[in-house]
Amino acid sequence: MSMSSNNWTQQSNIFNTGNPSSTQQGEEPMETEDYPSHPSFVMGPSTPAEIKPPDQDNKVDDDCAICLSDITNKTELPRCSHSFCRDCIEQQFKYKPSCPICGTVYGKIQGNQPAGSMYIQSDSRYHIKGYDQYGIIRVSYSFYDGIQGPEHPHPGQSYSGTNRIGYLPDCPQGRIVARLLKVAFDRRLVFTVGRSRTTGIDNCVTWNDIHHKTSIDGGPENFGYPDPTYLNRVLEELAAKGVTEADLDDTTLNIIHPSR
Ligand SMILES: [Zn+2]
Ligand SMILES: [Zn+2]
Repeated sequence: MSMSSNNWTQQSNIFNTGNPSSTQQGEEPMETEDYPSHPSFVMGPSTPAEIKPPDQDNKVDDDCAICLSDITNKTELPRCSHSFCRDCIEQQFKYKPSCPICGTVYGKIQGNQPAGSMYIQSDSRYHIKGYDQYGIIRVSYSFYDGIQGPEHPHPGQSYSGTNRIGYLPDCPQGRIVARLLKVAFDRRLVFTVGRSRTTGIDNCVTWNDIHHKTSIDGGPENFGYPDPTYLNRVLEELAAKGVTEADLDDTTLNIIHPSR
């Protein structure tokens, strides 16, 4: 039994820690529209912050939610203002760069998606119910078979690749989702290696908690449209991995190739 791992890379290097990456408990892969039976990532084993009201009195306020002792070398996170011991929060951020109390993400989260390719193409000949005035965006992914690395559940064993297509409406919000998926793909977050929820087959490239519509119709039960809240949901799933519109820059402007 080996641990799989994801690398959580700090972008903003808030604490000037040395090694930015570390391992993480393996996460069970999931398929298109199944919701996870457990969170896609687990918090540190000792983060009972939710049972500890932070502002009740000074005594509580001086305790570190990670080690439950008095805070030493107090370090305040810049966005959410929660405070911890410097050593405690440095350890936490090697594991995952987010606040263990409120979940605010700091820096880039890097996944363990294997080598593959992504191609995004618009196609005005097709339409999605609910977005009838727009064409579609086809997001194609391709992964060859390969050998699992140290960041995967069974290092040294082979995994089987896959080809997948996700569909988005070619509306302004759909274009934003497509660009964010590209950011997530480049951070190795869209797929992982593990057991497929739909086939039960282990050691394959499988979805990693960012849901895709693999059909333009058939409804949610067939991983398709119409599904009026899908775009908002996938934006939330991307944000949970630290991918938001703040990450969009000119480099993703022209990644949606027009078809013929
Ligand atoms: Zn502490
Ligand atoms: Zn916080």
